[in-house]
Amino acid sequence: MTVIVMSEEKAKIAFYWAASCGGCEIAILDLDAVVLDVAAKADILFWPVAVDTKYHDVEAMPDNHIDVTFFNGGIRNSEAVHVAKLLRKKSKFLVAFGTCAHCGGAPALANFKSKEAIFDRVYNTTPSTSNPEGVYPQTSHNVEEGEVTIPEFLEAVYPLDHVVSVDYYLPGCPPPKKWIVAGVTAFLTGELPPKGSVIAEEFALCKECPREKPEKHSVKEFKRVWEVMDIDFEKCLLDQGIICLGPATRAGCEARCITTNYPCRGCFGPAPKIIDMGAKMISVLGSIIDEKDETKMEQIVEEIPDIAGTLYEFTAGKSVLLRRKK
Ligand code: SF4
Ligand code: SF4
Repeated sequence: MTVIVMSEEKAKIAFYWAASCGGCEIAILDLDAVVLDVAAKADILFWPVAVDTKYHDVEAMPDNHIDVTFFNGGIRNSEAVHVAKLLRKKSKFLVAFGTCAHCGGAPALANFKSKEAIFDRVYNTTPSTSNPEGVYPQTSHNVEEGEVTIPEFLEAVYPLDHVVSVDYYLPGCPPPKKWIVAGVTAFLTGELPPKGSVIAEEFALCKECPREKPEKHSVKEFKRVWEVMDIDFEKCLLDQGIICLGPATRAGCEARCITTNYPCRGCFGPAPKIIDMGAKMISVLGSIIDEKDETKMEQIVEEIPDIAGTLYEFTAGKSVLLRRKK
């Protein structure tokens, strides 16, 4: 077991954000007074959103100098690849923090389109774009003052562990306070779970969900939340024809969406032993549709709005099916 903090020595920690919305940074600030405890026990060496340390300061650190780096956001461009490799080299432990670093998150929905299609949409065909000369961003451009560069946009959004090895995963969009505190405490005390662990529950969300589950689901059609005017607050949402990813999602969030009457979208990533969340949900949906006629069954499935986006809202970056298709 590696114990990070010696009696009088402070732990050295770092935070980084790649392709993310900033919500994970807010989750850290949202720790309230716990942040003060962390500050008392740890020195923050690198945190671009709050601390003015530069990349070259990190490059100058000896290898393994940082005790633990919490890395949020998916890998969308060459800068994120560079920083992921740099922080891996400089850190004893690397934690994929939040669903984007864990599974690609919502930004990885872009993986349903090619890089060319995305550029065409953004720089040519959006209603507000006027680009008659077809100018696209270039990674390098020479101006009078010298060369100006920007990072290269990659083919897809990748989870952190597709680029470097990851020691632990803290899932959620963003991770809830309870698990951030559990994770940080584990590092500060040295009482760490086995490498590769996801710091959350070891079962699927349905087990944590307080709603009544039927013995057998029987669904005739699927609807969006707003199409169901009289949602029963007590009953399982899936049983009411609202697609809920609870059967395929890891528990740990205390069913926070479901208790507000919104179905789970899978931000905690796949439940244990599930490799591809969308594939698992296809088999769940197939088993609950109460229709024997093949044509009618096909019709029910075809009427599911945006099935790929719904089943992979947070995990397209980890989808085996999607990689296979590409
Ligand atoms: S499918 Fe959703 S609403 Fe139903 S029990 Fe599972 S988590 Fe709860
Ligand atoms: S209910 Fe699902 S989408 Fe909502 S926080 Fe929990 S795991 Fe994430």
